[in-house]
This record gives sequence, structure tokens and C-alpha cells, in this order.
Amino acid sequence: MDYTKRLNNTIQQVKPSGIRRFFDIVSEMDDVISLSIGEPDFRTPWHVSKAAIDSLEKGRTWYTPNRGFEKLRDEISSFVKRKYNLTYSAKEEILVTVGGSEALDLAMRCLLNPGDEVLIHQPSFVCYEPLTLMAGATPVVINTQQENCFRLTAQELEDAITPKTKLLVLSYPNNPTGAIMRRGDLEAIAEVIIKHDLMVISDEIYSELTYGDRHVSLASIEGMRERTIVINGFSKAFAMTGWRLGYAMGPAPIIDMMTKLHQFGIMSAPTVAQYAAIEALRNGDKDIDKMRDEYEMRKRYVVGEFNAMGLECFEPNGAFYSFPCIKSTGLTSEEFCTKLLASKKVAIVPGNAFGESGEGYVRVSYSYSLKHLKEAISRIKEFLQELNV
Ligand code: PMP
Repeated sequence: MDYTKRLNNTIQQVKPSGIRRFFDIVSEMDDVISLSIGEPDFRTPWHVSKAAIDSLEKGRTWYTPNRGFEKLRDEISSFVKRKYNLTYSAKEEILVTVGGSEALDLAMRCLLNPGDEVLIHQPSFVCYEPLTLMAGATPVVINTQQENCFRLTAQELEDAITPKTKLLVLSYPNNPTGAIMRRGDLEAIAEVIIKHDLMVISDEIYSELTYGDRHVSLASIEGMRERTIVINGFSKAFAMTGWRLGYAMGPAPIIDMMTKLHQFGIMSAPTVAQYAAIEALRNGDKDIDKMRDEYEMRKRYVVGEFNAMGLECFEPNGAFYSFPCIKSTGLTSEEFCTKLLASKKVAIVPGNAFGESGEGYVRVSYSYSLKHLKEAISRIKEFLQELNV
């Protein structure tokens, strides 16, 4: 049967993720050493898992309120106040979702109408363009530059704005570059946003993973709270990707509308995960610190090695990715990754999977043990020697 006429036109036109295409090749091969994954290699801290087990033992397996348990929203409210000086009402301005992913989708669908333009800086996480299209709006890409440390500049933003621009998706600490935005960078962006009366979805999922500078939330910049939806979650900070829990914070009318969508599409985020998350927020600071220290040590090793082997590597200040430049090899990102995989069985992700401006780069995750990283790095070295560049 021909299904094309039976399926949704917009979704049919959305291209599948470039990361997936590459993983399909990897999954067909044996003995591959991968540096391609975008999730913590740590186990969820045991006291967090234990809280979830306790909730199951007590038979707490019912739906929660649509917005999530109130005590979880209270904990989120205290956490973001303590960490980023954000003030959000647990009752009205926080929604617990199925990962940051669901929160991003809800935010897009609640803010956008057909014809609206959405500014997306790239290289960046792969879902923003497809979600924009699926919400019926038009993505407009801004290519950030390595000479600006992959930060979005006020001028780049200003240049991309048209009368149709409605929304900016800001994504720092950034996947795949590891770039962060400092307070001054955010203030410059905020001025343009306010001048043009735009809204922002600020994806701050890596906010707890910064090295050196503490994360600054866009919503803490003067004038931005009323025009920002902050997206965050438990996947990265607490090594909880599989628990599928995130949250959105923003002005009550927007959170109300997102809750309406969430209520009809999802009902409530997983109950067992919400019990785990309460424990993580109450008693998880030390776990975050330990994991962050470990990532930072690995980062120094990986970045140092890339620079030493002649692949210039931008200094990442957040998340757990390095983004070395491979232009000196004369290969495209896809050629580099495909050849490396075929000859040395090391899987990394071509930079162009994160947008055209990622061409000439590769994403190497350092969310792996040092032993694993050392083996992969030594194979990449051999690969470069054999390329003879
Ligand atoms: N935003 C960014 C920038 C990400 O890298 C990811 C996951 N890789 C997500 C959002 C989604 O995270 P989750 O749904 O697990 O909370």
C-alpha cells in the first residue's frame, strides 16, 4: 500500500537525524570503540535509585498531578533559586515533563503559528529544526563561528531578524561544541531580544556541567524572565537519561498552555522517576560535583591530545563534548568519520550532523572512562599518521 497520501505531509518532509544515520552504520559493526554517545557514562547515584525503589515498594504507582508532584516542583524551585538565582513559583510556573525533549516540543507548539520564523544557532542539538517544522513554523539558521568561541553574538542575531521572527532557541552550554555564554554575552543578546520583542526558549540542560565559570541562566538577565522559557532536566546533571524526566519554567500563561498539551498527550511524567528526582535535588549536590570533576579531568586529557596531534581543538567550557577541527586533513567531516570507523573502528560523530556550520569538525564525547578514551585516542593518532597529513 502507498502510505504517502495517508501520512502527515509536514512530518514526511522532516529529514531523519544525521546522528542516527551514522549510528545505523556503527550498529552493524563488531568491536567498535565509540566516543559518540551524548549521555553520562555514570550510573544514577544509588541513593536516587533507592528512593525510586522505595516508592515502588510502597506501591506508589499512580498518576501524579499533570504538572508533576508539587513537592518535586517545590524542590525544582529551590534548586534553581540556589543555583541560578531564578525565582519560579512551584504552583504556576513549573511543569515536569518527559525529559527536556518533551518540554522543548511543548514550548515550540505553544508559542508558534504558521509563518513564524524561529532563529536557531548552529552547530547545535539536532531537534530544534525538526520541532520547529513540526510546529508548522519556519527555521532560520544562524551559523556561529569558532573565532567567537561558538557563541551567538548580538550582531549575528540582529542580522537574522525579520518582521516574521518570533522566537530564538538559545542552547548553552552547547552540544556539540561545548561552548558557554557568559553574563556579558547574554546581556548583549537580551538587548536585541527586547528591542525586537522576541521570545526565547533557553535550553539549559547542561547547566550543571560547566568548567570554571558557573552557568548563568538567560532568565536571570534583566528583562528576560517574561520572555523566556527555560528548559532543564535530570538527564545530564544526575546521570538519569533513562528516567525520562525534565522540566520547563516560564510565565504562568505559557506554562498553563504547555500543561494543557501535556495533559492530553502525556497525562503526567513517570511517577517513579519523580520520586527519584526529589531525592536527587535534595541530596545530589555532591554527586554532581564528583561527576563534573571527572568530566573536567577527561576534558583536559582529550583536548590536550587533539591539539598535540595537530587537530586544533576549541576549549570547551561546558557539557561533555570536544569539537576538534579536522579541516587540516583535507577530508570532509563525514569522510573523516567513515574512514576512521572503517580503518580503526572508532565511532565519532561528523560535525555536519549538527548543521552545515559543523562541517570541518567532529564531535567527540568524553563521557567515557579514561581507559576507554586513551584507547580511542591512540587509534585516532594511528589513523592520522596513516593519512599522512
Ligand atoms: N537538549 C540538549 C542540548 C541535549 O543535548 C539533549 C540530549 N542529548 C536534550 C536537550 C534532551 O535531553 P532529555 O530529553 O534527556 O532531558
